Amino acid sequence: MTVWQEDAARDLVLNAGDRLALITRGEGSYLYDGDDRRYLDFLGGIAVTSLGHAHPVFVEAVSRQAATLAHVSNYFATPPQLALAARLKRLAGAGIDGRVFFSNSGAEANEAAFKLARLHGGDDRPRILALENAFHGRTMGSLAMTAKAAMRAPFEPMPGGVEHIPGTIEALEAAIDDRVAAVIVEPIQGEAGVVELPEGYLAAARSLTLKHGALLIVDEIQTGAGRTGAWFGFSHEGITPDAITLAKGIGGGFPIGALVTFGAASSLFTPGSHGSTFGGNPLATAVADAVLAEIERARLVENAATRGAQLRAVIEEIDSPLVTGVRGKGLLIGVALSAPVAGAVVAAAQERGLIINAANPESVRIAPALTIGDAEIDEFQTLFAASLADVQALLAASETESASA
Ligand code: PLP
Repeated sequence: MTVWQEDAARDLVLNAGDRLALITRGEGSYLYDGDDRRYLDFLGGIAVTSLGHAHPVFVEAVSRQAATLAHVSNYFATPPQLALAARLKRLAGAGIDGRVFFSNSGAEANEAAFKLARLHGGDDRPRILALENAFHGRTMGSLAMTAKAAMRAPFEPMPGGVEHIPGTIEALEAAIDDRVAAVIVEPIQGEAGVVELPEGYLAAARSLTLKHGALLIVDEIQTGAGRTGAWFGFSHEGITPDAITLAKGIGGGFPIGALVTFGAASSLFTPGSHGSTFGGNPLATAVADAVLAEIERARLVENAATRGAQLRAVIEEIDSPLVTGVRGKGLLIGVALSAPVAGAVVAAAQERGLIINAANPESVRIAPALTIGDAEIDEFQTLFAASLADVQALLAASETESASA
């Protein structure tokens, strides 16, 4: 064990496995470890660093706002908070009635969404529908909406009322009734391995929720801020939800989350019904506003769409029996594998200087900065193809070994 590994093993809470490396700095699409080894970062801190690392706009916004005003509490409004709220409403199409609640993470944005659902539901609508394989966070309310049994079991009982249904239009039709307060969905299930909703799902969910008086809440924490080649995942289907939750990419690496409400859902929170000391502080909101302004200025949503198509094509070109499909939209991509070797592929990639992620044993997740261009994609193709070949060779060697045993 190296010194940092000993420190990590001794001092950090045991909620995660061994840390993969000691990362000391980043620049653009590259990360560097303590030995100054360079890695091509095609994970982006799990779909967070929209502008890449140490982008001048990010650095300038943090520095300027830190030197101006970092925190003042929600007894006061601040210019960056108001600017970001207005920008998010405009980008989301939330209209004049829209409102924004700021949090510090995705899970907290979903906690606010959960409370919004309760406020809407009152005593008559105790049910909240979420999808099988959903991931909405790890705090208790967001965990109640997260499907994975292994994540939930040690923390039972969950806050009540949440039911997980299959991600099909038929299942939603069968489950929804007038006792449902809200339906919450991810347009693409990132943690489940980058799995898209069926074609037309959001439109059907919109009409069914309208028919039954339930809120439609779209969790855009992983898919928002241009990641999928549109500002939000729901934008691809042209629907208007009642609320969306945001985090990750809107801050480009600065911790921030948000709940954006549309129409009548914007009147549900009343004074005293929710709050956060840090949520919406001027430092976080100034940085997120600058990040989103740069995404707009540099046309990075369009870049995510074109580079996403290019990336998908280069993955499909790789001649590896391990790759059985490519999922996702824009720069949120899941590579389906023919065997449960995603962990081995990720390890081989890191060994070769490429950071990607095993969303589950059969899927590799790729979520680079929205700024990537030809150079990064070419380098990715070489490194990823070589990593797949490494794992293929390992599999072949272990087959030969077991045949001769
Ligand atoms: N919702 C979705 C769709 C996510 O992908 C995540 C994080 O991966 C969350 C919620 C939770 O966000 P956070 O980790 O910031 O609490």
